[in-house]
Amino acid sequence: MTFKDLGLIEPILRAVTEIGYTSPTPIQEQSIPILLKKKDLLGCAQTGTGKTAAFTIPILQHLATEKQSSQRRQIKALIVTPTRELALQIEENIKEYGKYTNLKSTVIFGGVNQNPQVNKLRQGIDILVATPGRLLDLIGQGFITLSHIEYFVLDEADQMLDMGFIHDIKKIIAKLPKERQSLFFSATMAKPIVDLSNQILGHPEKVTIKPQQTTAEKVEQSVYMVSKEDKIKLLEDLMEARNAKSVLVFSRTKHGANKIVKLLERDGIKAAAIHGNKTQAARVKALNGFKDGSIRVLVATDIAARGIDVEELELVVNHDLPNIPETYVHRIGRTGRAKASGEAISFCSAEERSWLRDIQKLIQTDIPLVTDHPYHDTSPEEAPPKQGGGGGRRQGGGGNRKPQGGGGKRPQRSSKPRR
Ligand code: AMP
Repeated sequence: MTFKDLGLIEPILRAVTEIGYTSPTPIQEQSIPILLKKKDLLGCAQTGTGKTAAFTIPILQHLATEKQSSQRRQIKALIVTPTRELALQIEENIKEYGKYTNLKSTVIFGGVNQNPQVNKLRQGIDILVATPGRLLDLIGQGFITLSHIEYFVLDEADQMLDMGFIHDIKKIIAKLPKERQSLFFSATMAKPIVDLSNQILGHPEKVTIKPQQTTAEKVEQSVYMVSKEDKIKLLEDLMEARNAKSVLVFSRTKHGANKIVKLLERDGIKAAAIHGNKTQAARVKALNGFKDGSIRVLVATDIAARGIDVEELELVVNHDLPNIPETYVHRIGRTGRAKASGEAISFCSAEERSWLRDIQKLIQTDIPLVTDHPYHDTSPEEAPPKQGGGGGRRQGGGGNRKPQGGGGKRPQRSSKPRR
């Protein structure tokens, strides 16, 4: 199945191809046809499944193909999501997927001055991504009207309820036109969530996607305790000892990614880096080289790794551990896709040990420790490195993440509603 098979229009296909998505994820494959038929959808899926593209792409397509009125732009699509980080991420994706349409979007959330948001709204927009509190504030002040909404998405409904947004949601629903397409997403479907969905949706189609964490179970994982300074030597040794044809190495920083590539190339290993400082052309070239086998090692930061989808990826190496445990699951989920299993090796320095603990809590497994190597590091634990550089994108300005306790399911977001 390709995006073209799903019936997407050329401007969207072009944008999706440029990002590097080669095929739709299961939720996209199942939801996009339903949504293009303008049916309501009840989606049981969590972050990491490709859900954002599943709901934003059909909305973009509908709006891009609708006749534009000559009057001022009115908000025609509303996406309500519980946190500022998620809102920012969704709007960023809309901008990427809608790059070749002339649709306009913006994002509003609480905790910041409303004026820049109001100015954007005044310019006229088609798609609004919002957190509930700020949305109601700006409706109350007369800056937003929902009377032209044709598409409504309630995202992460379970988290909305956990965060006490139920009354806000009900107020928002009451302001929507009756005639609309509605989409409702939740990672879980407990009774209060189903009740809420019944108030929003009319005869919805249902799509359920299993959590991504199951991928982690298919991947053979190991961890090496190694000092920061010795990581590159360990990587060089591993590359020499194994003949994995395609290896994806994750680096926390862009600078680190460049350094790794330089050292691997010095050893005669074909390598390339992809990160935010590389041009689009350089990224595409690196990705294509990786896919056709002319580049053996691709070194990426998490942001740049979005969209990397290589069927035969044999090995993922976490040269640096991510500070967000869910990012680990996303990273290692890139191997073991086409084949029955894949392998993921992680390097852990004294300052990354608390992150390793968080990861192990999330995946509810102790990752087997390999001690039989020349760089085994037994020095005492150190405080984690300061954030910045190539950390997880979804966290936006989210700052340090606290351990979540066993079996957490989603990326941690703020625990209090922001208005
Ligand atoms: P989401 O569940 O929407 O948060 O998406 C999780 C990640 O998957 C994001 O980094 C997306 O950019 C990426 N993604 C979404 N759709 C695809 C696709 N069809 N192929 C590869 N990556 C994708």
